[in-house]
Amino acid sequence: MDTLFTKIINREIPADIVYEDEDVLAFRDIRPQAPVHVLVIPKKPIPTMDAAEPEDALLLGKLMLAAQRVARDSGIAESGYRLINNCNPDSGQEVYHVHIHVLGGEKLGPLNA
Ligand code: 5GP
Repeated sequence: MDTLFTKIINREIPADIVYEDEDVLAFRDIRPQAPVHVLVIPKKPIPTMDAAEPEDALLLGKLMLAAQRVARDSGIAESGYRLINNCNPDSGQEVYHVHIHVLGGEKLGPLNA
């Protein structure tokens, strides 16, 4: 089932896109939790990390390298950043289209805060 991220991929709703290639799109989160907060998504609509298959290995690798690129292009690679993937309800996953949150631009709090 299509989510709003498919609509962003298809330019049916607007987003502040910071990176795109054949397989991956990255855009700023609408409710940023840090000075840099970008979502990196595969164009293939995999609903959760749990739904990923072995055949998605290359795509998932591209996703992580796109997140690295976004961090470098945002100027936060050396100071540091955090990559987060929420999977299924207990994580708070809101949009069921796999995405990596790239967070940085300030000293981030501990994960257990
Ligand atoms: P999740 O909780 O599923 O890991 O993260 C979903 C993220 O999508 C949230 O951080 C939320 O702020 C973001 N989001 C929800 N709707 C939109 C939207 O329409 N545009 C953008 N750019 N981000 C959105």
